[in-house]
Amino acid sequence: MKTILTGIRPTGNLHLGHLFGAGQNWVKLQDDYDFYLEIADVQALTDNFNDPQKVRDNVDNIVKDLLSVGIDPKKVHIFIQSRIPEIAELTVFYSNLVTVARLQRNPTVKTEISQKKELFGNEGESITYGFLGYPVSQAADITCFNGELVPVGEDQEPLLEQCREIVRKFNNIYGDTLKEPEGMFTETKRVKGLDGNEKMGKSLGNAIFLVDNEETISKKIMNAVTDSNKIRKDDPADPDKCMVYYYHRLVNSDDNLKTICSECKKGARGCVQCKKELIAKMNEFLDPIREKRKYYDEHPDEVKKILDEGTEAAREVAKEQMKKIKKAMMIDY
Ligand code: ATP
Ligand code: MG
Repeated sequence: MKTILTGIRPTGNLHLGHLFGAGQNWVKLQDDYDFYLEIADVQALTDNFNDPQKVRDNVDNIVKDLLSVGIDPKKVHIFIQSRIPEIAELTVFYSNLVTVARLQRNPTVKTEISQKKELFGNEGESITYGFLGYPVSQAADITCFNGELVPVGEDQEPLLEQCREIVRKFNNIYGDTLKEPEGMFTETKRVKGLDGNEKMGKSLGNAIFLVDNEETISKKIMNAVTDSNKIRKDDPADPDKCMVYYYHRLVNSDDNLKTICSECKKGARGCVQCKKELIAKMNEFLDPIREKRKYYDEHPDEVKKILDEGTEAAREVAKEQMKKIKKAMMIDY
């Protein structure tokens, strides 16, 4: 049985980007693989080191969200990154196998630095050693569990490539020890944000969260970006330039989509009506998730137990893998 490793940063709640992007695979794949799902609190601290409370609170939040969308803890080992010290240890070992220039050229790192100007400066001049090195820590996450398949969003592909380079270098120097991981992507590789941004992200202020209540959903959808050429209600518009249609495609039926699309193109559909229909569909979609979420809110002990057991199972694997790695590196005293 192949091993899957993936992760999520406890920086906020689960959003539609997770659910229709990488997370769609998580729910689908849990039956057929040995599956490790990391709550990446150490990685979350790389750009939230000054807000530990946020990271701490979001560990529970994100786990409850994951459970409420159908991740089954009997099938998936959900674990906390900081409770696996082997990952931190491996990060130090791997830091010799990657150049600073290569990290600075990593497209994901570059994009994320530019999105965090307040923290890292306009030109990234205040970037920390820890943030620059987070692809190295991600390579440690994956290889610590011998992860072969990594279901992630498209934004993570350059990090996987960086991991494969580290693996190749490690195997060349220390002998064949680590596996090169492969990415797994869903049909919707990257779900767009309410503002039309190519990526919906927790930290980007453009996400629909699964815990959003009806009022918040309504406000967000009412403010979503539509085709800017449509001024009056009966102007024809291009659904492909409209975020409202984009989200209709996620939660509405094919028949309804055809009607929406043709009415929009003909100018027979106003944006307000279209947004109201989306709000209703979105709430219908979220209701069963909200119901399950409520259960876990009321049973925090169950959530703690799931995390303890998942972490314990993951730790056992990490310890074994670390023995192999230290032996290869001749530091197995
Ligand atoms: P942050 O803004 O804190 O980085 P995030 O929304 O990017 O949060 P992560 O925890 O970094 O979420 O990502 C977890 C996983 O979900 C990753 O595999 C990532 O690629 C995937 N993912 C996140 N946003 C999207 C999206 N909009 N579309 C597809 N996959 C996504
Ligand atoms: Mg991210």
